[in-house]
Amino acid sequence: MVVGFEKAVSATKSVVTSAKKAPTTLSSDRAINFARGDPTMYESYWRQMGEKCTIVISGHNLMSYFSNAGHFCWFLMPELDSAIRRLHCVVGNAVVDDDRYIVVGNGSTQLFQAVLYALSSSYDPDTEPLSVVAAAPFYSSYPEETEFLRSGLYKWAGDAYSFDKDGAYIEVVTSPNNPDGAIREAVVNRDGGKLIHDLAYYWPQYTPITGKADNDIMLFTFSKATGHAGSRIGWAIVKDIEVATKMVKFMELSSIGVSKESQLRAAKILEVISDDCQNSAPDKEENFFEYGQRLMSDRWEKLREVVKRNGVFSLPKYPQDYCNFIGKYTDPSPAFAWLKSKDGLNCDNLLRELKIVTRGGTNFGVDSNYTRISMLSLDEEFNLLLERLSAIKGTIINGNN
Ligand code: PMP
Repeated sequence: MVVGFEKAVSATKSVVTSAKKAPTTLSSDRAINFARGDPTMYESYWRQMGEKCTIVISGHNLMSYFSNAGHFCWFLMPELDSAIRRLHCVVGNAVVDDDRYIVVGNGSTQLFQAVLYALSSSYDPDTEPLSVVAAAPFYSSYPEETEFLRSGLYKWAGDAYSFDKDGAYIEVVTSPNNPDGAIREAVVNRDGGKLIHDLAYYWPQYTPITGKADNDIMLFTFSKATGHAGSRIGWAIVKDIEVATKMVKFMELSSIGVSKESQLRAAKILEVISDDCQNSAPDKEENFFEYGQRLMSDRWEKLREVVKRNGVFSLPKYPQDYCNFIGKYTDPSPAFAWLKSKDGLNCDNLLRELKIVTRGGTNFGVDSNYTRISMLSLDEEFNLLLERLSAIKGTIINGNN
């Protein structure tokens, strides 16, 4: 039992000092940052792929603003449109029939704001801004992105579980959820509600693919699908052409489209993944999602082991399910670990004393006894995380002496 936060913290120091001698190439003095979900862990996979994903772009290529003049989303490159549709068909995680409209964005971050505009702009300007809610714990950027420009069209209204206003509203449904990995459905379910489904993590490395998502507005991102966060490519799959067209208008005014270099690179990488997934040669290598799923479940197993041993924290439990893509029952292995202190301590502060930087529960609309740890770091950093978390056991024992 931990008798108090102060005591636990002062006792950690000796344990952290002894961890300095541990064989690791990263300095043990350095704080390691697990607060961001930077998907660097996939780097080694893409390095192994060598030149398979290389594209060459000459000085005279891709100069026009336009990618597909006449198309409702005139800046979307046809190559990317078809690579996105193909990958969703191969994985079986979303309906991409011909009557679904694809809008490309500078990451799904820009698309989220485009959707807020699209859904709220038709409301009477004299009425109150449209409420935007998400069930807590919610992705910490939603409140910031919604409030940043102090729009008169929409406003952040907090936790969907406690939302009780009548009339129109927008609910963001994130599934699997960031930060806690839960599979989610809408919670408000009242007339006048519009839903945005943020499906950034609905890929086989994070969760069993149990069916094709078929929601009105679905957001996906290249960042979490393949790890190429730096290309800043996201896409929305939208049923209603009016909503999709308003999103395109927003994109036009905020960035006049999306980098064609990035779109072509994304298209190439998505096609390489689809090719590998559809390769039925007997001696084929594991495909990207099989690789990711194996790596993530290995990390989760190790993390659960350390957390169980030190007895200070708990982690959510997730039910196994049949993954249509992998073709067997798999355990969910979310992109973030949602750690809870069993003794009600401020989890983020406690871990900072061990030089582990996380993002505390209050950022996600819940208490500070929760914190979020990224599971997507480089191997070296992840191993150091395990090492430092293991050190907490010594802390607690010392704390009780
Ligand atoms: N939605 C969720 C749930 C996320 O976790 C993230 C990235 N952390 C995003 C959207 C934004 O992704 P992008 O890099 O495409 O802007």
